[in-house]
Amino acid sequence: MSMKYGTVHTIWANAGLDFTSIMKANVKAIILAGVYTLQSNRSRFKKYEVSAICPLCIADIEDTEHSPLQCSSTDTVRRPFITKLRTLLCDIDHEIENLVFSNKSVLLKVILDVSSPQISISIQAILLMEKIEAISTGVVYALHHRRCAKLDLASS
Ligand SMILES: [Zn+2]
Repeated sequence: MSMKYGTVHTIWANAGLDFTSIMKANVKAIILAGVYTLQSNRSRFKKYEVSAICPLCIADIEDTEHSPLQCSSTDTVRRPFITKLRTLLCDIDHEIENLVFSNKSVLLKVILDVSSPQISISIQAILLMEKIEAISTGVVYALHHRRCAKLDLASS
């Protein structure tokens, strides 16, 4: 997570003040901080006595890339947000869209932390970051909500 002393991270700078917006931003902040409990974390924490396989699709290890970008079980949740993000970037600059969507780690970075120094400065224009933040916070929360519902966990 990129943080500068004395500044508010873009997650919070772009979060609304209502309870739902704060809850959505909180889920994203937990994921970004690396403390969201995915199956790969559980497996590591339990000394590999628990499987790291995604409990939703049973097709791959559930880690920080699989869950937001690849899990087939949450495709229908993810797709509209990704389409919206792609359209937004394409409308700004087709090269930026290609840059983001040709590299999964860049796409993941844009979704989880668009303010990261690893992201092209052309994407970090204030108004564009606000729009990206709104889309990415929405998809992260929607995926979290779907995951909790499928695993019968209380969504918090
Ligand atoms: Zn999965």
